[in-house]
Amino acid sequence: MKTDNITLTGCPFCGTGCALSVECNENGYKVKGDKTNPSTQGDLCFKPIQMAKALDAHRLTSPLYRSDKTKPFQEISWDEATALLAQNISDLPKEALYFYLSGQLLSEESYLFTKLIKGHLGTNNVDANSRLCMATAVVAHKMAFGSDGPIGSYADIDDADAIIISGSNPAWAHPVIFRRILSRKKAHPETKIIVIDPIYTETAEKSDLWIGLSSGSDTTLYNALLAELYRRGACDTVFIDRATEGFEQTVSAAMDISFADSVASCGLSLNDAESLVELFASDKKILGLWCQGLNQAHDGVMRNLGFINLFLATGRLNAQKGLPLSLTGQPNAMGGREVGYLSNALPGYRDVRNGDDRAVCEAYWNLPLHTIAPTPGITITDAIDAIAADQIRFLWVACTNPLLTLPDVKKTQSALKNPNLFLVVQDCVLSETASLANLVLPTLSWGEKEGSMTNSERFIKRLRPFKSGPEGAKSDIDIICSVAQKLGFEGFDYHGAEAIYNEYKALTEGRLCDQSNQAYESLSFQWGGERLYADEHFATPTCRAQFHPILSSAPQRDKDTFVLITGRTKKQWHTMTRTGQVAELLKEEEYPYLLMNAEEGEALGIYEGEPVIITNHLGSLELPVRFGKLAPNHLFAPFGYPETPINTLVPVKNDPFSSQSALKSARVTLHSS
Ligand code: SF4
Repeated sequence: MKTDNITLTGCPFCGTGCALSVECNENGYKVKGDKTNPSTQGDLCFKPIQMAKALDAHRLTSPLYRSDKTKPFQEISWDEATALLAQNISDLPKEALYFYLSGQLLSEESYLFTKLIKGHLGTNNVDANSRLCMATAVVAHKMAFGSDGPIGSYADIDDADAIIISGSNPAWAHPVIFRRILSRKKAHPETKIIVIDPIYTETAEKSDLWIGLSSGSDTTLYNALLAELYRRGACDTVFIDRATEGFEQTVSAAMDISFADSVASCGLSLNDAESLVELFASDKKILGLWCQGLNQAHDGVMRNLGFINLFLATGRLNAQKGLPLSLTGQPNAMGGREVGYLSNALPGYRDVRNGDDRAVCEAYWNLPLHTIAPTPGITITDAIDAIAADQIRFLWVACTNPLLTLPDVKKTQSALKNPNLFLVVQDCVLSETASLANLVLPTLSWGEKEGSMTNSERFIKRLRPFKSGPEGAKSDIDIICSVAQKLGFEGFDYHGAEAIYNEYKALTEGRLCDQSNQAYESLSFQWGGERLYADEHFATPTCRAQFHPILSSAPQRDKDTFVLITGRTKKQWHTMTRTGQVAELLKEEEYPYLLMNAEEGEALGIYEGEPVIITNHLGSLELPVRFGKLAPNHLFAPFGYPETPINTLVPVKNDPFSSQSALKSARVTLHSS
């Protein structure tokens, strides 16, 4: 919607998904919250306000090409670029192709990629950076409730008696959600905020109770709480009998160690753990929020399920007693999953392993039966190995920077430099990954293109353009359609995002994420309503929610090494390709750092600001020290800084259920430089 130079759009800088209103005037762009939007109610943070000033910085304006990755790029025309791309796809068997997409693409773009890759090219060798972010949460939601999709709403914050934030720092990563939590606390000071996190974050600073558990002991804690609730007769047996399955096995698997011993092994005080038991045993409305602290772990699915078990066991899946609400990291990870961009998925929360699901999509896309492959493609970390082994020879990366975000940077770099790989990167700036490519395709950016996104609470809104992009850049939609047409595929002749959305939305009819009745023009809609499964009819085969026994493995203690937790900073977004261009957002965040316990630093004779070296078998990095408060023997470093890519020290260790990488638990030693 555009009136008097005001455009209603949305923010692309986190999963909160704030709705914005952008006024264009002679001084530039004035970004405000869109008060008409029921999801985020007019609130916003500093990122989009500042970012609008730097949209034109360092933009790519022409396709760039080189056949040899060691030689300089040459500018080529769009016709040449899309022809080259199509030729490389045609020349290779489909097993040698791979595509890596992004939770920052708009839903229409991800839908088109899905249709092209899984439908017309007949390969499921496609993944998205959601694999690094939400894959564990997706699998856990499917295991517990039968489908992907967070079950609650931001509105559940507004009447919560207690908010437990486990493995998340919304003060930095989801600022508007955090402000809503603080507003609740201000209006009702009796509301308890409890933070479970090895780091004493800004969120923890504002909490009533910080539970600084040791990294990796989450499942031990959740099992201990479940067992203790059971021992005290505090589980909601009426709800459990009525609406769930698997409780007996789950609780019995959690009972093998005493409460006190479990709590001690997590590095916690009995009093703190008691507070959690008492809270869950009460009738209070508890909202459970979590994000990457649970997700980016080698046992991430178990962590998710362990937290969910506590809510199931105490009958907390409703407006009265509360519920678990997973926070989404990226702005459109939800939308990407809905349109089927992960290696196992198809549009409308369908699955490539399901013959009926494949047949629906094949018929809808006018493809012969059995065109869609029946097995999931390989996930991104396996694709890096396959590139190194010359099995994948073509990689098309869109709107993401895997060189800095995948684990083991040197391994990724070596694979991307493989001369036998044709690497295509589609982005609005020359990212670190793009700088290794054969072919770079300049795209339009936020504020210049049209489409929709779904936020953390399943709310879909339109993102409208409020400026034109640089001459020479194209929309992702145009690029995908041009390549598809050059490949000779029909069904890629759209006039704008609306036509693509309308095609996609029909595939959601009757599905959990049904949006088939929504009009694109006024798209502003929370699919599933405020609360999924409000009728206790779950998407599982038996229509009951599922408990799952949690395999808990207390972390090995090793006093000679530190646990290195990685994460984002407050003002920067991911690998800083855009927010790093804005002076206001760089303030106090210009340089990377290593956060460590003040007492531990002083005991080692390290002073604040002093550069130290952290090392493991993968390499070494030098970072200046900042003192803070963390669980003993833990460090934190931000992941976005290209000069000190922290994932250099993060080995590839994936969750077995979801293939999501553990990015927050590398072991390192530390010494003065
Ligand atoms: Fe954007 Fe997230 Fe800030 Fe909202 S909270 S304005 S979505 S960065």
